Amino acid sequence: MIDFSLSDEQRAVRDWVRTFVERELMPLENEVLRRERAGAEPGLNANEVRELRALARKSDFWGVETPEEYGGMGLDPVTAAIIETELGRTFLTFKFGGEADNILFHANEQQKRDYLLPTIDGERRSCFAITEPGAGSDAKAIRATAVRDGDEWVINGEKTFITGGNEADFALVFAVTDQDKGANGGVTCFLVDREHGWTSEPIDTMGERRPASLVFQDVRVPHANILGEEGRGFELAMKWIGKGRYLLPARALGGCERLLDMAIEYSRTRQTFGSPIADRQAIQWMIADSQTEIEALRLLVLHAAWQVEQGHDSRHAQSIAKLYGGVKANEIVDRVMQIHGGMGYTRELPIERFYRDLRLLRIFEGTDEIQRRTIARDLLKGHVKVGATLG
Ligand SMILES: Cc1cc2nc3c(=O)[nH]c(=O)nc-3n(C[C@H](O)[C@H](O)[C@H](O)COP(=O)(O)OP(=O)(O)OC[C@H]3O[C@@H](n4cnc5c(N)ncnc54)[C@H](O)[C@@H]3O)c2cc1C
Repeated sequence: MIDFSLSDEQRAVRDWVRTFVERELMPLENEVLRRERAGAEPGLNANEVRELRALARKSDFWGVETPEEYGGMGLDPVTAAIIETELGRTFLTFKFGGEADNILFHANEQQKRDYLLPTIDGERRSCFAITEPGAGSDAKAIRATAVRDGDEWVINGEKTFITGGNEADFALVFAVTDQDKGANGGVTCFLVDREHGWTSEPIDTMGERRPASLVFQDVRVPHANILGEEGRGFELAMKWIGKGRYLLPARALGGCERLLDMAIEYSRTRQTFGSPIADRQAIQWMIADSQTEIEALRLLVLHAAWQVEQGHDSRHAQSIAKLYGGVKANEIVDRVMQIHGGMGYTRELPIERFYRDLRLLRIFEGTDEIQRRTIARDLLKGHVKVGATLG
């Protein structure tokens, strides 16, 4: 049986987040845009984030996917996707508190006390550092090295485009520990505190995110700071990237819904040649195409989330959702800007902000081309059969 309805709990969660976004986040949008345009740091500031998280926590909204034994809500991936879609209705990149990188749950007991629990509590901040100037899509080409010296490892290398790298007080760093094996058993993940000696520099981008470049020059880390097993870091990196790929198009979906609502509203009121532009087929088709793609994207996202929930190999479904979401969200925001004419291009409306931010979806956590590579490879090698989605 296929059931497209939400459970009562999912509906309640969706409605709660929708209200939170409308009451607490959207009213901050104009002020954030005003600050950005005056040259301040983009997005919400640390105080605002802290207050919003505390407010949500009062309603027990804390640690969406964090297991209950760690004080979280332990919600399932489908519900997480629904939450992400609601959050996507604002361009502010707010996340609820109480979360930690999924691979930190592989930490040993001491590491859990030092890194995982304080991250969940919001006392510590992490960043995930695999990309290097010479290794992005081809993550196996990383060259940062870690060389053992007694009870320590000495890390050298550079990481780039690291989200949260300016604010993090520790990094999940992937370095080559065995040149011969490389990504096949020769990459290790280290938990590296800022006090161990790495430095960061912000990278200016066209959107809200300001990732960092990190430099490691003879940074000494205790052997005890290896996360997981020595040499098995590449698998952890893939686990980090693979876990929540569907959440990126889920967030874009919410943005598309908001944008299409704006376009519908505008086209009803904007008059040209004596009648609303909504009367023109050219405008109606843009609205119809956008709605069709939004509904297709919703099903792709929820299907990928459902596969994660079922414990199936979800990589193929996640790649499809990420690719389609990136491409279609960019087409939709472009149409919505077009429907708004000159107003769409101004900074009086948030459309240009969505436009700049949604562009990133086609690049990070696997570019469009890399998703296509995965999808085609799965089919050509026979790992996945055309039309076999329903088993
Ligand atoms: C804002 C932002 C935040 C980021 N956050 C993080 C983070 O937190 N941690 C982290 O480790 N990394 C992060 N990244 C890095 C990101 O994942 C990489 O930028 C991305 O994987 C692409 O790598 P690249 O930039 O080196 O492009 P390249 O790999 O150099 O690709 C350049 C172009 O060639 C194409 N291409 C590459 N290989 C192929 C191929 N085999 N076939 C066809 N086309 C190909 C690509 O699709 C792209 O169009 C972030 C990036 C950005 C922009």
